Amino acid sequence: MSRESSVKQSIPKELRFTVEQFNERFPDNDACLEFLKEKRMPGGVTYCQKCQQERKHHRVTGRPAYACDYCGSMISPMAGTIFEKSPTPLRLWFYAMYLMGSTRCGISAKQIQRETGVTYKTAWRMFRQIRTLLSEDVQLEGDGIEIDETGMGGCSKRLGRSPKPKKTVFGMVERGGRVKAVVAVDRKRDTLFPIIKRYVLPASVIFTDEHPSYDTLGDRNDYTHHRINHSAGVYVMGDVHTNTIDGFWSLIKRGIGGVYHNVSEKYLPSYLDEYSFRYNRRHSGNLIFNSILEKVYEKASLRPVPRSDQKPAGSSPALEVPF
Ligand SMILES: [Zn+2]
Repeated sequence: MSRESSVKQSIPKELRFTVEQFNERFPDNDACLEFLKEKRMPGGVTYCQKCQQERKHHRVTGRPAYACDYCGSMISPMAGTIFEKSPTPLRLWFYAMYLMGSTRCGISAKQIQRETGVTYKTAWRMFRQIRTLLSEDVQLEGDGIEIDETGMGGCSKRLGRSPKPKKTVFGMVERGGRVKAVVAVDRKRDTLFPIIKRYVLPASVIFTDEHPSYDTLGDRNDYTHHRINHSAGVYVMGDVHTNTIDGFWSLIKRGIGGVYHNVSEKYLPSYLDEYSFRYNRRHSGNLIFNSILEKVYEKASLRPVPRSDQKPAGSSPALEVPF
């Protein structure tokens, strides 16, 4: 297959996690559950609400749950994660994350529908849920931050619908480093400056085009500000260019245009997060999958694993996830 072979060619061996390796590491739902368990309660040891102390837990046969060795209270490693209430098998979730982490230009719900046989709706929901994990609060810094705005989304050409205006997307990127992109209500100074202040550290050197909203940027937060004059036909003048952010825009526009065809206003922020997440790990090969997995239990750990001893066994939603 073309996707697989291109992955194999472009990724250095140590950064490669092939489909074969994925299948070996996660052969079935149990392997995925065991993986989650080890991450959230290493060795099966975790606090038991009923015993009110750390206890060893063992796997409950035929259920995606672990029970306290002492009192039998059950908990699920899926509790509080995006998998918790999903009827979709855990391994399919893992595979969807694997695909998402292995592409450069994005992956469509259609693709995973074709590969795995889940319905389009299920596939689309999985991707939407996974994207909710990928938002990152980065602090950009250094002597080469490029900042720019662009229009995205909108322009639906479907019959009987009037075209919607494009949304303003605002991006900040470190040359050779990380990116942050957000949807902005407009391109005015009072909109853009607070965003810059939030994501770009003081004393950074910022490059922009001649858009008037940036006029007083150099006066604030100790930023050093350089501008290029696109309208005069000058795109690169030594250091003074915005080629890096331009490259990010084309990557994301190619992806959204080619893979997703169109993105509604509602979901545009999550697509920006997805592309930024991958961009920020572009030197990780397709080990990006591991980073996505990490987000699953990182964000889940903010909520405690719900206790299962409040209700009769089996009635806890965390335990009802079919295998
Ligand atoms: Zn117990």
